[in-house]
Amino acid sequence: MSEYKCPHCNAHLKVCDNIILSAERPNGEAGLFLLHPELGNYNVIHNEGFIPEEGETLKFYCPVCHKSLTSNKANELAKINMVDDSGSVYEIHFSQTKGEKSTYKIEGESVEIFGDHSSKYLNYFNLSQMK
Ligand SMILES: [Zn+2]
Repeated sequence: MSEYKCPHCNAHLKVCDNIILSAERPNGEAGLFLLHPELGNYNVIHNEGFIPEEGETLKFYCPVCHKSLTSNKANELAKINMVDDSGSVYEIHFSQTKGEKSTYKIEGESVEIFGDHSSKYLNYFNLSQMK
């Protein structure tokens, strides 16, 4: 089972099969998001009172060190690290926009893509595409 860690403080972000991130809406409203750990699964658990609108771009933060997780590739993407069973670390970039299914797993010189809208940000990754 892969682990997910903050790229800044290396904190463990996965608890009971959920990746826990702090999220902020453009209106400043904030809450916690529980993301599914399987890449390409966009089920999200959140508080009933914290419901971002479709198409709204959020900002994700580490719930431990509170640093921004916005990707160095594009402001619309967030980045966290994935650690697989063998200890290899991969950068996972994903869209911060509600309803946008775009996820990128960087493996050395290649990028593996997930989600229906993954072509949208592919040009930010100057890498060859694996599939
Ligand atoms: Zn952190």
